[in-house]
Amino acid sequence: MAVYVRAIIIPIIVSVLVGGCSFGSWFAPKPYKETQFLMDTIIEITAYGPKAEPAVKAAFAEFKRLHILTNNFDPDSQVSKVNQLAGQEKVKVDPDVFAMIKRSNELSDQLDGVFDVTIGPLVELWGIGRKGELVPTQAEIDRLLPLVNYHLMELDPAAETVYLPKKGMLIDLGGIAKGYATDKAIEILKAQGVTSALVNAGGDVRVIGKRPDGNPWRIGVQHPRKEAGVIAKMAMTDWDTLETSGDYQRYIVVGGVQYSHIIDPRTGRQPRGLASVTMVINSSTDGDIFSTALFVLGPERSLEALKQFPGVEAIMVTPDGKVTTSPGLAGKIEITEE
Ligand code: ADP
Ligand code: MG
Repeated sequence: MAVYVRAIIIPIIVSVLVGGCSFGSWFAPKPYKETQFLMDTIIEITAYGPKAEPAVKAAFAEFKRLHILTNNFDPDSQVSKVNQLAGQEKVKVDPDVFAMIKRSNELSDQLDGVFDVTIGPLVELWGIGRKGELVPTQAEIDRLLPLVNYHLMELDPAAETVYLPKKGMLIDLGGIAKGYATDKAIEILKAQGVTSALVNAGGDVRVIGKRPDGNPWRIGVQHPRKEAGVIAKMAMTDWDTLETSGDYQRYIVVGGVQYSHIIDPRTGRQPRGLASVTMVINSSTDGDIFSTALFVLGPERSLEALKQFPGVEAIMVTPDGKVTTSPGLAGKIEITEE
C-alpha cells in the first residue's frame, strides 16, 4: 500500500569557523557575497579582492546555465529532452552535460557501478523531496530495475550525443550537477583573478586560497544526527573541497522508518550502512560522485574502494554515530564528537 507523507528537506549546514583574531584580520578586505537558489539548494559565493563582484556574478551566470541544462523539473532542459526521447532518438547535448555523464560513468566503473546516472525511474518512483513521495511495493521496484543501468546508455563522444535505448529510462544528474557547477564557478573566479573565495553549494564547499587574513579556511562538518552539532573540523590546506551526502537532508518517515533520496541501483532501495559521507578531495565534481557512491557502498567497502584513489579521503558516520575516516586523514582532521 502506498503511504503518502510530506518530505522533509533541510540544507546541510556547514560552519565556516572563524579562527583566532589575528592582527591581519583588522585590515582584511570586505567580502563580496551573493546567494541564489539554484539546483534545488542555496548557493552562496563569497569572494575577496577588488575583482570579487564581477567574478561572483560571472560564476553565478555559469551556475545558472548548468542548472537550466540539467533541471529535471523543466520539460525543456537538455536532460528532459534526452529522457523524452528514450527508445526513440539520440540527443546532441552540451559539452558540459556530456562531460558530467562521462565522468559519472568512469568513476562509477571503479565503484561497483553504484553511482548510476540512469537512476531516474527509481528517483521518480520514490519521489523523495518531490511531489507524491511514497514507499513503493517490491513489484513496483522490480518492474523498474531493468531500466536502471548506465551501461545501456549509448554515448558518442565525437558527436556528443546521448541515447537511452529503452522507453522509460531516465537520466538524473542530481548527484553530480551541483559539484560540477561548483568546479566551473571556481574556474571562473580564478580566471578573473580572485585568490580568496568560498563556494558553498547547499553544504558542499570548495575554497580558493586562504582567508584574506592569511589563515586557512576552517570548515565544520555537520553531525548527521544533531542539528547544530559539528562532527569534525578541518583546515583547508591539503584539500580544497568538502562534499557531503547524507540521509538527513531529504527524506520521508513512514511507520517510524526514514527513507532518504539516495537509492542503491542494485536493489532500488535506500542504503542503510551510513548516515553521512563527507569527501575530502580536490574536485567538487568527483566529490559529488564519490559522496553518493560511498553512501551506497557503506563503510567497509568504501574504505576498500578508496585504496584505488590516493589523495581522495572520506569521513563516514554510521546511523548510530560511529565515525570512520580514511587513513590519509590521520592527523589532518579534528573529530569533535562521537
Ligand atoms: P545532494 O544533492 O542532496 O547534495 P547527493 O549529492 O548525494 O545529495 O545527490 C543525491 C541525488 O542524486 C538524488 O536526489 C538523486 O537525484 C541522485 N541519486 C540518488 N541515488 C543515486 C545513485 N545511486 N546514483 C546516482 N545518482 C543518484
Ligand atoms: Mg552526490
